[in-house]
Amino acid sequence: MDNFDVVVIGAGPGGYVAAIRAAQLGLGAACVDAWLGPDGRPALGGTCLNVGCIPSKALLDSSHHYHNLRHLLPAHGIEAGEVTLDLGRMLARKDKVVKTLTRGVAGLLRRNKVESIAGRATLKGGGRVEVAPHGAGEPRILTARHVVIATGSVPVRIPAAEVDGDRIVDNEGALAFPEVPKRLGIIGAGVIGLELGSVWGRLGSQVTILEALDDFLPAADRLIAREALKVLTRQGLDVRLGARVTGARPHDDGVTVGYEDAGGRHECEFDRLVVAVGRRANTEGLDPAAAGVDLDAHGRVAVDAYGRTSAEGIWAVGDAVAGPMLAHKASEEGVAVAERIAGQAAHVDHGLIPWVIYTHPEIAWVGRTGAELDAAGIAHRTGSFPFLASGRAQGSGETDGVVEVIADAATDRILGVHVFAANASELIAEAVVAMAFDASAEDVARTIHAHPTLAEAMHEAALAVAGRAIHV
Ligand code: FAD
Ligand code: NAD
Repeated sequence: MDNFDVVVIGAGPGGYVAAIRAAQLGLGAACVDAWLGPDGRPALGGTCLNVGCIPSKALLDSSHHYHNLRHLLPAHGIEAGEVTLDLGRMLARKDKVVKTLTRGVAGLLRRNKVESIAGRATLKGGGRVEVAPHGAGEPRILTARHVVIATGSVPVRIPAAEVDGDRIVDNEGALAFPEVPKRLGIIGAGVIGLELGSVWGRLGSQVTILEALDDFLPAADRLIAREALKVLTRQGLDVRLGARVTGARPHDDGVTVGYEDAGGRHECEFDRLVVAVGRRANTEGLDPAAAGVDLDAHGRVAVDAYGRTSAEGIWAVGDAVAGPMLAHKASEEGVAVAERIAGQAAHVDHGLIPWVIYTHPEIAWVGRTGAELDAAGIAHRTGSFPFLASGRAQGSGETDGVVEVIADAATDRILGVHVFAANASELIAEAVVAMAFDASAEDVARTIHAHPTLAEAMHEAALAVAGRAIHV
């Protein structure tokens, strides 16, 4: 029997970060993970590194270069003759990026003296965790004073469109189509639908996205969602709102999809269909009940504000618990739980988790939307600045987008920042830092921003809160 201070189950961004932080704090830590890569060998990093954040961003970047070469660079006076696409090479590059990073996690665990154990873990109660190795071999029993559940999430399935791994796929299949589908259908205009729809649209697919809700991106600020829908539609994404899929039938030449909307019943033909209707917490094979770990009504591991489950000494983080399913949220919870196990005070501010959707322009936000503040009866003032008025955006030829800063009407404290911009994922970091330090809109307005930069739009939007933007 192997004894540890902490056993972490799952080596995604929640789990491997928790294990490393625990080891940094002098605790004896092990990290168990069941993921196998395409070569059948253990691949650390979870959903994010293997089939999520990293491969999707690799393909978003590749497809963006391809798109720019054909559509943006000619306006800069750069012509490259005939532009060809080698999809095999693009996918191989993505796979190489994934391999580099998953190996990197293995190296980080090694260097921090975290024991990495490959296999599927099951909770046995009394601080015991059983690990079934891949292939043949006896299960190993680990004991620990503390166990951290970081088992992540899996795609939601819908009976109307059963994933067959060929014509009908989830996010994993959509990162590895053998050819660019001529007609690509996507169910769900959420984060995955928009990102992977952008990838294949840029590579030449005619993309149709069927979204059950009547609103586009309901979690985003209305100004940003409106702008984004306009621009993404112009880019060729055919987003059909209020579309309830009734069935999907794969056949030799593609897949026939039926859906209903306010206009009646419709049928579409696609070469491939992606189902991207959300993800759910993964507790398969874990047997939480055996250890007295309660689940909530959505099947997530129930935790208190400190990441403690209903069982003494068992904690949980990341996609397996409530909250946004984001890698950085999982990692911050992992750090906080490891620090609490080590007896430190630790805090995750769930009100300050940035969101980014990596379309082009990117959509990013932190804090609350105008609609949320209206619903809560909080009086606020809004300042916005369009990139059309930014010198840097004009120079690069990327003038779509806007920054919106929302501040408390009484105190001027920033309550939310919403960005639709070419590099919104980077711009939003300034807003997160400002809000973490309780900045007012005036604080940002009085902070010097380099010229010419896209970040000046944040400065101008903060000035606009007080009605004193200069350049618009
Ligand atoms: P996971 O990363 O899911 O890791 C859980 C690990 O636990 C897995 O390796 C799993 O095999 C293992 N496991 C499960 N059960 C057991 C068991 N019983 N025994 C042993 N091991 C087990 N988030 C972002 O912030 N930015 C992005 O750009 C982004 N892009 C995404 C793109 C896609 C296509 C997808 C699908 C997701 C994306 N996400 C993104 C979300 C992000 O991947 C998740 O929020 C993040 O991976 C959650 O981390 P986690 O550690 O909680 O779980
Ligand atoms: P999502 O929750 O973002 O979007 C799912 C969409 O599908 C919603 O708009 C929902 O209304 C719609 N939908 C649900 N059932 C439907 C049905 N039967 N027919 C038509 N539409 C339906 O989920 P996702 O896109 O699958 O992504 C899952 C999660 O992964 C995200 O919520 C996010 O947490 C994470 N993720 C993050 C990033 C990022 O941070 N950039 C990227 C990808 C995924």
